[in-house]
Amino acid sequence: MTDEIYLYNTETRKKEKFIPQVEGVVQFYSCGQTVYEDVHVGNAKTYVVWDVLVKTLRYFGYHVNHVQNFTDVGHLTDDADEGEDKIQKKAKALKMDPMELVDIKIREYHHNMDKIEVGRPNIAPRATGHINEMIDLVRLLIEKKHAYELDGSVYYDISSFEDYGKMARLDLDNLEAGARIEVNTGKKNPGDFALWIKAPKEHIMKYTSPWSIGYPGWHLECSVMSNKYLGDTLDIHAGGIDHIPVHHTNEIAQSEGATDKKFANYWVHSAFITVNGKKMSKSKNNFVTLEELIKEVGRGAARFTLTQAHYRTQADFSLEQARNFRKRYYRIIKSYHLALQYLHTLEGEIKDEDRNYSEKILMNFNKAMADDLNTPQAIIQINTIAKRLDQYRKKGDNFQLIKALEVLRTMMTVLGIPLIELKDDEIDNVNNMISLRIKLKANGDFDASDKIRDHLSSLNYILQDISAEETQWYKE
Ligand code: AMP
Ligand code: ZN
Repeated sequence: MTDEIYLYNTETRKKEKFIPQVEGVVQFYSCGQTVYEDVHVGNAKTYVVWDVLVKTLRYFGYHVNHVQNFTDVGHLTDDADEGEDKIQKKAKALKMDPMELVDIKIREYHHNMDKIEVGRPNIAPRATGHINEMIDLVRLLIEKKHAYELDGSVYYDISSFEDYGKMARLDLDNLEAGARIEVNTGKKNPGDFALWIKAPKEHIMKYTSPWSIGYPGWHLECSVMSNKYLGDTLDIHAGGIDHIPVHHTNEIAQSEGATDKKFANYWVHSAFITVNGKKMSKSKNNFVTLEELIKEVGRGAARFTLTQAHYRTQADFSLEQARNFRKRYYRIIKSYHLALQYLHTLEGEIKDEDRNYSEKILMNFNKAMADDLNTPQAIIQINTIAKRLDQYRKKGDNFQLIKALEVLRTMMTVLGIPLIELKDDEIDNVNNMISLRIKLKANGDFDASDKIRDHLSSLNYILQDISAEETQWYKE
């Protein structure tokens, strides 16, 4: 495909034409989940965005190497290198080994993401599997005078890295003046962050290093794992906008301090899902888990809901709104199913001919996705084609109908929104039961006809009576 893709690059605050280092190949790293709690709708939206990005790039013909980590050590309850390890804290409360909790949460993560069609990354590395590489990176940063040891811990000297905070446009003077009173007075600059932290005796998740028995700082893992699996310079690095001022700022300082090369050419950040205007978060306890959303509206409508807003637009979430999106999702499915049923009756009679209109819609869709993943525009094209399915079916315009179906399938696949398929014998069976029901009703045998409706409804077939002789149906 020849379309050019444009992405909004946080570093330049501009939409830029996407040009990878090697033609046709994309080295893509996204920051993944800290695995100690259920994935909530805000987290899920962010992972759906990276999935839409990967699917779009692949649709446009790129070979994408996608790495997304699991954080299973070192993420503290406080961003300023204080507090307890989030995983250890939760594991203690559950009286469980931290690594057992991690395994459970990783399994759940995959299970739920599979349900909403989020493709698995090519590699999903875990921080604990890369402690040696992290120690090597810390050693190199000390050698290059970017880091220093202090009482068994190691800190990054942010004054040693000229561009510190550049991507985030941090105002360092204000930042330092406003920094809280330092507990560890030995740090060179109040903003210096921990690369290695000496563990107190009672700490469970600790490892041997040249400086102390301790554990790595949270930001280290992404520098190490992105470098190991994707190389010195990434084409795209992604994460939630909350990562810009601290996590990604520190990743850049670590990686560029070590390699003297640019860490990432495009920085892509996803905006927050809010609840009544406030960020959905574990700590605010205002979250709905992905599992709850799927239970409430089903997996297809869950994915449809999470694809609605543009990824850089903050969007408010409620279950009520999700139920609305569920209705819109099934409007598309209904058009799809009625088209499938119609074509089922025409087997063998279909020829190829003029398919222009659907091509135009597909071009609009492609243009929308190439323009910084404009999913709201893309969904408008999906709704247009769904309406067209109904029109072509009613007119008996089979050629247009088949092309429109093809286009709908393509668009839904790129956005990862599942279509519900119907098998041929399934269509026959349901149609037979519905014919029988119509006859029974005509004979006044409403008990029997209601039983058929109830039976079909228990199998998720939704019946809509159009007249005494006609009933439309689709499957949920
Ligand atoms: P965490 O487990 O808190 O590290 O979050 C995992 C990912 O979800 C990160 O990329 C966060 O930026 C993202 N995230 C967390 N909360 C939200 C939210 N309310 N809306 C969108 N993304 C979020
Ligand atoms: Zn990261």
